Amino acid sequence: MAIDRDTTLDWMTRFAGEMAEHRQELVRLDTAIGDGDHGTNMNRGMQKALEKLSSAEQPDPGAVLKTVAMALVSSVGGAAGPLYGTLFLQMGTALAGKTAVDLPTYAAAWRKGMEGVQSRGKAQPGDKTMVDALLPAVEALEQASDLDSGLSAAVTAAEQGMNATTPLVARKGRASYLGERSAGHQDAGATSTFYLFKTAAEALAD
Ligand code: ADP
Ligand code: MG
Repeated sequence: MAIDRDTTLDWMTRFAGEMAEHRQELVRLDTAIGDGDHGTNMNRGMQKALEKLSSAEQPDPGAVLKTVAMALVSSVGGAAGPLYGTLFLQMGTALAGKTAVDLPTYAAAWRKGMEGVQSRGKAQPGDKTMVDALLPAVEALEQASDLDSGLSAAVTAAEQGMNATTPLVARKGRASYLGERSAGHQDAGATSTFYLFKTAAEALAD
């Protein structure tokens, strides 16, 4: 089994659908410890991405992800737009020209994407950001023996990382302005990242 152009298009379509479906949940999470726009931001960005994807031929997974990255960067302000833009751009660059992506190549692309997020946002694990879902999921992929079980392990790891943000005190992003008062709330960006892995697994399984 490998990840190809169609799997990647399906993934991005599912992720856009998930952002629309969970817009209010993400808004609610971001309202508690941020400014309440994460769901709206992600939904707007991913709708823009779908428009761009349908307007030009996407030859391979790398091209799909680069198109999504451009759409997010150009249509989403705030922290998450550029951070997700970087994630998809770095992944897309790592996958450029590859039509059938195996597990090691896929895991390496996620690692590059995550490094991009960390070099841009400077968040470490435990800072109560999307990195808390992203890092354990990438590690699960790196330790896996095949794509199928790797992605399901990544979904579980992302979900655990998302849940683990609740008691944390935020050290990056708007939530950090609240200091200790940010504890007791789940991070919005870690939640959207969980949906990113969930939809990746669904696209592969289908
Ligand atoms: P903004 O904070 O500008 O309103 P969003 O609400 O769209 O942007 O996104 C907020 C999410 O972005 C947070 O929940 C957090 O997961 C993520 N985030 C914020 N700052 C950083 C950072 N420096 N590194 C990684 N993720 C971050
Ligand atoms: Mg916000």
